[in-house]
Amino acid sequence: MDLSTVAIVAGRGAGAPGEPLSVPVALASTYRAGGEGPHYGRDGNPTWAALEAAIGALEGGSALAFASGMAAAAAVFDSLPAGAVVVAPTRGYHGVRRLLADAASRGHLRVRLANVSDGPGTVAMCRGADLLWIESPTNPLLEIADIALLAGGAHSAGVRVAVDNTLATPLLQRPLDLGADVVVHSATKLLSGHSDLVMGAAVTRDPEIAASLAARRSMGGAVPGPLEAFLALRGLRTLPLRLERAQASAGELARRLSGHPAVATVSYPGLPDAPGHELAGRQMRGFGTMVAFDVHGGAIAANAACDAVQIIVTATSLGGVETMIERRARWPGEELTSPGLLRLSVGLEHVEDLWADLDAALMAPRPAHRARRDGPAG
Ligand SMILES: *Cc1c(COP(=O)(O)O)cnc(C)c1O
Repeated sequence: MDLSTVAIVAGRGAGAPGEPLSVPVALASTYRAGGEGPHYGRDGNPTWAALEAAIGALEGGSALAFASGMAAAAAVFDSLPAGAVVVAPTRGYHGVRRLLADAASRGHLRVRLANVSDGPGTVAMCRGADLLWIESPTNPLLEIADIALLAGGAHSAGVRVAVDNTLATPLLQRPLDLGADVVVHSATKLLSGHSDLVMGAAVTRDPEIAASLAARRSMGGAVPGPLEAFLALRGLRTLPLRLERAQASAGELARRLSGHPAVATVSYPGLPDAPGHELAGRQMRGFGTMVAFDVHGGAIAANAACDAVQIIVTATSLGGVETMIERRARWPGEELTSPGLLRLSVGLEHVEDLWADLDAALMAPRPAHRARRDGPAG
C-alpha cells in the first residue's frame, strides 16, 4: 500500500456492522474492571490507540502518543541512565536544546553538541555516548543529516539513535528504515496540521524501548487528551494531500525568494545549490514545506516584513494549513540564527496569493525608530 492510502486506512479497525466509522472520542478516566484494555486513563485510551496505529503504520513501527512533542522527547531522554552521554545537534530545535542544557546543568545527562550535517564528525563524537539525537531537516535552518550513515556509525559504537522527524513526516522519510531506533514527532505540526492542538509521538520497532517509553508516559503522566487524539487523527488523514500542496508551494516560493532583491540567502533543501540538496534528494521523497531566508537589513527589516504580511500569519509553530512566518532570533536561545532570518512554514493557500503577500511585505517601508517588543519564549 502507498503511504497515502495507509494514512486513510490505518487505525480504522475492522469494526462490527453498525459501529461508527470514525473512532469515537473516548472521554474516560477509568474503565470497568475485568476487561483486557487499559484500566486507567493514564495508561491507555481507545482514541489514542487509533491514532497510534495510524502513526505507527506510517513510520513502520509501534507508536505512543504523548501530551506534546517535548513530552515525547523528554520520555526518550528520561529512559537513559543518570549521567548518560547524549550527542545532539548544535543547531537543532531550541526546545530540545533547552531541555538538554537543563538536564546537563543538573548533572542528569552529559551533552555533546555536534554539527549533524557533518556525518563523520558526528560519528566520531559518538564514542562512549549512549544516545545520538538527530534532526533532519533541522529546525529552523533546514540542514540535512545523513541518517543512515549516522545510524550505522552510532550503532558500531553501541549508541542508540533517535530521530526527530517532525519537519519531514513519514511521507518524506522513514528514519526506522534508515536504521534509527526511535522516531519522535511533534504531532502539533504537520501530522495534525491545523494549529489547533499540542501533541507528540514516539515510534519504535524495539519492544524494549517501546515498553520503557510506555512506562515513562504512565509514570510521568504526559498523556494526550482524547479529544486532541481524535483531532490529530482527523488531521493525519489528509497529511499526504496537505504535504503535496504545501511542498509544491514551498519549492516555488524558495525559488522566487532566491531572486528577490530584499533577500540575502535562502535555505531550502530543494534548491540545487543548497548544501544538503544531493543528500536530501537521496534520503527524502520531497524537500518539505519549510523555507528559511535571511533578509538584507537584519532584525529591523525582518520585523517589518512580519508586520506587513496580510494573508500569511506572523506566529511561531509550523505545519498548519495557514502559512506562518516568524523572525527566529526573537526567541532567547535562538541566537545561533542570524537576526534577519525568517522561517516560513508554507500552508495551503494559493501560491500566487502567498507570493504577492510575501513580495509586498518584503518591499514594505521599514519603521526606522520603532522598537518592537517580543513576548517571552513559548
Ligand atoms: C515543535 C517542535 C518540537 C516540540 O514539539 P511540541 O509539540 O511543541 O512540544 C520538537 N521538535 C521539532 C523539530 C519541532 O518543530
